[in-house]
Amino acid sequence: MSATPPATTPGLVCAHHHLYSTLARGMPAPPRTPGNFDEILELIWWRLDRALDLEMIRWSAMLGALEALERGTTAIIDHHSSPNAIEGSLSVIADACAEVGVRVSCCYEVTDRNGLDGAAAGLAENERFLEAGGRGYVGAHACFTLSDATLESVVGLAADLGRGVHIHVSEGTGDGAAGARLEPVSRDDWLLAHCVHLDRPLRGTVAHNPRSNMNNGVGYEKPDRFGGRVVLGTDGIGADMLEEFRIAYVRLRELDVTSSPEAPWAWMQAGAELFPEVLGDRVTWSYEPMDSWHLAFTPGVSPLEVVVDGEVVFAGGRPTRVDPDEVRAKAAEQAGRLFARL
Ligand SMILES: [Zn+2]
Repeated sequence: MSATPPATTPGLVCAHHHLYSTLARGMPAPPRTPGNFDEILELIWWRLDRALDLEMIRWSAMLGALEALERGTTAIIDHHSSPNAIEGSLSVIADACAEVGVRVSCCYEVTDRNGLDGAAAGLAENERFLEAGGRGYVGAHACFTLSDATLESVVGLAADLGRGVHIHVSEGTGDGAAGARLEPVSRDDWLLAHCVHLDRPLRGTVAHNPRSNMNNGVGYEKPDRFGGRVVLGTDGIGADMLEEFRIAYVRLRELDVTSSPEAPWAWMQAGAELFPEVLGDRVTWSYEPMDSWHLAFTPGVSPLEVVVDGEVVFAGGRPTRVDPDEVRAKAAEQAGRLFARL
């Protein structure tokens, strides 16, 4: 037996998030019940993102960052979309996270689903933010909403700026051609969300989002079946990485009952390879030992204190930099504005 690990860990990383969706909970029902993943996008997420303005984005990000901190997650890799409020949106998100005290990597999802002007504006926002020194990737939605020309622009911009691309890959069967299109262009510094139906290995890191995949009924394949690096994300459903680890574990067990929690635990920890600064962050937990076999079966473990970059940003059940009641009240106000538009 090894020695009992301390109840302190580095900060956790949510490696695929959509902070813009934080206000979505409780939103009005879509005009009809979506029957598959493509309809979930069209009837829910693409109606929601088109209704966002910068003030909604700000409070959505503030609430998402607060909820991350409350779960010991000190870094978020975000994937953003707001087709009618593109310019400046990544800075709004970065500022909101900084205010709460959470690290963030941003990108804007380039897509052709809002026309050529929409694609150009998305590219420009990535370029503006990254050129100004912002941390992030060049974002792209998914191959099935990208023409060859637009995908080429995304790849070219990322190469010019020396950054990776953060893109959804084969999340549903409708994006089954992604592997063939990305194989010649993907790089080691790319972040590939989902890859459920990916038919070949690609260069880059796979971000596995088990709860979201189950919620969207897109199916399951082992996220590490191609042997590359795997990290865990939530795809916008909070940033509770211990919970996402537990879901990743039981989903894996459902496929293969001989699986141990050690692989999903390693996926969660590998987030630090994309965000090495979290290794200097300290989270003190309400439970020990913080190891995979305990945590797989221990819900409700919470941070007692979170230190980011040497500063205590969470203590005694509350964030130290912002008033959580105010953040929740403002977010609820913005959710009301958003719902009125849907
Ligand atoms: Zn996503």
